[in-house]
Amino acid sequence: MQLILLGAPGSGKGTLAADLKSIYEIPHISTGDIFRKNISEKTELGVKAENYINNGQLVPDEITIEMVADRLSQVDCEQGFLLDGFPRTIPQADALAAILNDKGIKLTGVINVTISDELVLKRLTSRRVCSQCGASYNLISLPPEVNGICDKCGGQVVQRDDDHEETIKKRLETYHNQTKPLVDYYRNQNLIFDISNEGKPEDAVAAVKGLLG
Ligand code: ADP
Ligand code: ZN
Repeated sequence: MQLILLGAPGSGKGTLAADLKSIYEIPHISTGDIFRKNISEKTELGVKAENYINNGQLVPDEITIEMVADRLSQVDCEQGFLLDGFPRTIPQADALAAILNDKGIKLTGVINVTISDELVLKRLTSRRVCSQCGASYNLISLPPEVNGICDKCGGQVVQRDDDHEETIKKRLETYHNQTKPLVDYYRNQNLIFDISNEGKPEDAVAAVKGLLG
């Protein structure tokens, strides 16, 4: 299974990805998670990416494409993968097509997670994440059992630096301008599966299973 998750920031891609990863037993490749790990470890890549991310902008294509090409060449991707947050621009999608073509691999499908901008704003301002394991929480719908502490690993639950209202608005604008054209790009290739994520997370998972088997 070679899957792409497409959707606005805060559409719930990450939460859905965690479930799909275990259902289909494929690695979950989140470019956002890889960038954040590099930022916290202060690597060269992290230093390059940090300002773009905290301003709600995309990291330049050449940096991102190289990082993903490298990740896709690791052995665990031979049985399939779930790309979350990549591609986000048409040049990234073209680069991915070339990488997969070289490997003789075809995409199984592109899951287009849909949600209104209003709901995104509401969900992201109340989103919190574990700084240690990356688990996602929501102060309104899914708070950690103990305030500020991760249920899964005991790590600190914090607000992401880019989850403040002004940055969220900027990320939404970036999404509409640069990423949304990919929906048509993949629809033209008959690869799109539309999934609404305005309801409960388990409904979105069930919808994907219904479509992909
Ligand atoms: P969200 O989907 O909630 O915006 P992500 O964790 O996927 O969050 O990404 C966080 C940030 O990382 C993005 O706003 C962007 O700056 C950067 N980023 C992630 N993936 C890409 C990509 N494919 N191309 C460029 N920048 C990216
Ligand atoms: Zn944790």
